[in-house]
This record gives sequence, C-alpha cells and structure tokens, in this order.
Amino acid sequence: MTIWNLGSINADHVYAVDHILAPGETLAATDLTTGLGGKGANMSVACARAGARIGHIGAVGPEGGWAVDRLTEYGVDNRWIKRLDVPSGHAIITVAEDGENSIILFPGANRALPIEAIRAALAEAEVGDWFLTQNETNLQAEAAALAREMGLKVGYAAAPFDAQSVAAVLPLIDFLILNEVEAAQLEAATGTAPGALEVNDVIVTLGADGARWFDNRSGTVEDFPAIPVTPVDTTGAGDTFTGYVLAGLDRGMPMGQAIGLAMRAGALMVTRPGAADAIPDLAEVQAFLQ
Ligand code: ATP
Repeated sequence: MTIWNLGSINADHVYAVDHILAPGETLAATDLTTGLGGKGANMSVACARAGARIGHIGAVGPEGGWAVDRLTEYGVDNRWIKRLDVPSGHAIITVAEDGENSIILFPGANRALPIEAIRAALAEAEVGDWFLTQNETNLQAEAAALAREMGLKVGYAAAPFDAQSVAAVLPLIDFLILNEVEAAQLEAATGTAPGALEVNDVIVTLGADGARWFDNRSGTVEDFPAIPVTPVDTTGAGDTFTGYVLAGLDRGMPMGQAIGLAMRAGALMVTRPGAADAIPDLAEVQAFLQ
C-alpha cells in the first residue's frame, strides 16, 4: 500500500553560537550547517527509509528545489510536491555551546498549498492506504476528511501542538501520536486523557523512557521501554519513530511489533546529529543491537 503524507518541507539552518542571543544583541556564529528538515519531510524520509511507498503532499518555494531532490533521493515520491511562488519553509536554529537552542520557524510555502493539490494526490490513493499529517501545513482537517471519505486510514502527529488544529482533526483519525508535552497540552485543551479519546490507537512517546500505547478499542495500555543509548542529538527522534510505526503498520505488522521497530529507529536516530539526513534505513535499524 502507499502512505500519503501531507507535511512540511524545511531547510534547517543550524548556527553554532557561543550563547543564545539576548534582545538587541548581534553575534557572529562559528559554524553553519544546512540540512533537510520539517516534521513532514522527516516523517516522509523515515517512511521511505523503512521501506514504505510514500507520496509526499506539500509545497516549496522557488529556492526549494534542492529539498525536493533530497526527498527524491531518499525514495519519496515527489509528484505531489508543488512549486509555489512563496518562499520555502525554513528554520533558523541557533545552538549554544551548552546545548541550549532557539528556533525561528518560517512556514512559507508549507502553509500555502491549495486544496486542489491535495485532491489531485488523493485521487491516486487506494482504499486501505494510510494518510498522515502534522501541524506544520495548512488544510490538515480538510485533507483528513477527504482521506477518510475515500477509505484511507488516517494518522496524525499532533505536533507542534495547536489546540485549534487538534480539535478539527481529532474526530477524523484512526491513529494519534504525540510526545509527553503534547499529550499534557491535549489533555488540558480537551479535558480528555489519551486513553479516553475516541481514536483507536494513541501512542505517547516518552523520550528516554520509551513509549506508551493506548489501544482504545480494548481499553488496554502497553508500555515499551526505550533502548538505552547515549544521545548526541534528539532532533527528529519523534518524527523517525512516527515514520517507522506507520511503515510497519503499512506492511501489516501488529502495532506492538511496529512500535518495537520504531523504538530501535528512534534510539539509533538520537545517536546521530541532524534531522532528515540522519534518519537510519531499515537495514541499519535491523542490525542495531543484534
Ligand atoms: P523530537 O521533537 O526531538 O523529534 P519527540 O519529543 O517528538 O522528539 P521523543 O519522545 O523524545 O519524541 O522520542 C521519540 C522516540 O525516540 C522515543 O519514544 C524513543 O523510542 C526514542 N528516543 C528518544 N530519545 C531517546 C533516548 N534518549 N534514548 C533512547 N531512545 C530515545
């Protein structure tokens, strides 16, 4: 089957600085690395590297061709990525010597996708395919409704947390994934705990503490301990985890097995610096800790 991911595509510009800027301060960075990022792109790369067929639905601006090329190299189908006359999404990330960071996110083309582009992509989908989305684009709820109407299973990573988007998308999904902070925000906004949501499967990722799966059809909760590693950079761990879970489900794995695979991918990811470009492939994940 195919996974259809409506998601952001960003250039991550990472500046190494001595300390995080104070108001009014000008500071010379000591290093700059630019890589592919954005929750959407990260998840598409994770799905592709896990061996799934993945069509990315999104947009870049005139200067975003390299990001599309990068996604294509990783095996993501780029036919539904629009080139718009709006600047590409990007993140200006400063990382201080003590590891503290600050991020300015410019959504740009990610929030300018026309609904026709989503309709055109999903016209190619088949019943039983997965549709996935996050909160860094526009039109999540419209797209999720369309996908559901067409018989697709709908997955949603409610990140970055945004109460309005979550309220609109929540009634339309089969699978929800969030980290611990987002789970608390969701509970505060809706008054409903993950185990009481009307969503079949909810996964809360807990960083170094692993993940918790709420099977809301049976009312059971299962904990999965993390694989102990020494983290170097946790950027993209959640996105890698999500892509691997969906890819596992897409190839017919039971949820517990898909989470086990994603747990290894997430642990391996935190041992490497970088976002999309650091996501491990299936062979690396399978070889990890064997
Ligand atoms: P990010 O925003 O950095 O992408 P997140 O907050 O969405 O991450 P986390 O809960 O931190 O997501 O991590 C996702 C998964 O990655 C965890 O469930 C776990 O499997 C794995 N992971 C993350 N951090 C660690 C760690 N320190 N050691 C082992 N595994 C980890």
